[in-house]
Amino acid sequence: MAAIGLDADPLCGLVATGACAEPLPVEEVAPGIYVHHCVHEELDDGYHGDICNIGFIVGKKGVAVIDSGGSLAVGQRLREVVRKVTPLPILYVINTHVHPDHIYGNAAFLADKPAFVGHHKLADAMELRRAVYTRNNAAWLGDAAAGSEMVKPTQPVQSTLELDLGERPLLMTANPTAHTNTDLTILDRNTSTLWSGDLLFIERTPSIDGDIKGWLQIIGKLRDMPIQRIIPGHGPVPADWKGALDNEQRYLQTLLNDVRDSIRKGVSMERTMETAAATEKDGWLLFNTVNRRNVNIIYPALEWE
Ligand SMILES: [Zn+2]
Repeated sequence: MAAIGLDADPLCGLVATGACAEPLPVEEVAPGIYVHHCVHEELDDGYHGDICNIGFIVGKKGVAVIDSGGSLAVGQRLREVVRKVTPLPILYVINTHVHPDHIYGNAAFLADKPAFVGHHKLADAMELRRAVYTRNNAAWLGDAAAGSEMVKPTQPVQSTLELDLGERPLLMTANPTAHTNTDLTILDRNTSTLWSGDLLFIERTPSIDGDIKGWLQIIGKLRDMPIQRIIPGHGPVPADWKGALDNEQRYLQTLLNDVRDSIRKGVSMERTMETAAATEKDGWLLFNTVNRRNVNIIYPALEWE
């Protein structure tokens, strides 16, 4: 696998100006598919807008960027590495879902005039979260949030959509509510690679912002897909993608069972935040914070089952 972007132009500073941004390091995980790997950071602790997997796919006539990072500056650095790899036009910027670490680099590609592609619920979800995300970006990123405009999809995906990068067909699928209500997967047919967004977490504790039961159903469907590999939303591309889905399923199912059990026994949500899915604690990064937040989200929803 090739690594690109480490030999940055020494005249470019770390601060991205757009004209001279330092290219992000990327890895070619399959022919023509480049991924920049994240670091696992909490959103409210040391966040610099670069915590998830973002990247691009190159066809014969153009490029599709998939997720753009958490700020304009990260998007500009992603654009720089695209330009190092190929002079072909950037035809599409695809967002896998609404979370801020995946969408706020979109503005870096406006001058390329791509189609912005997302789940049909993405535009509304962005608008609903605009005020909170703007406030959080200012608090978490400070000056580095400058220019990080929300750019909504111009090409919404209702159920599925085929795009062609030139002898490189991509299939977008808009999923029912799972990690969020805007989860879009991208299948590169040439290499049977599925870009899953945050439907698959590796190493980092899966965070729920949608429907845990819906997510478990989708995991079952992903496992049956005739694919070679999955590019997850967070963490490395797993050698054993079915095993990785099994890990995620085990965590989510344990959490669901434990929270249901607490509700049945009349255990409070506060207490459940300490105990639910405790058997999974050592298997995941950022477990305490994310697992507590997950309980906070699913406990009230499951009380009405
Ligand atoms: Zn997410």
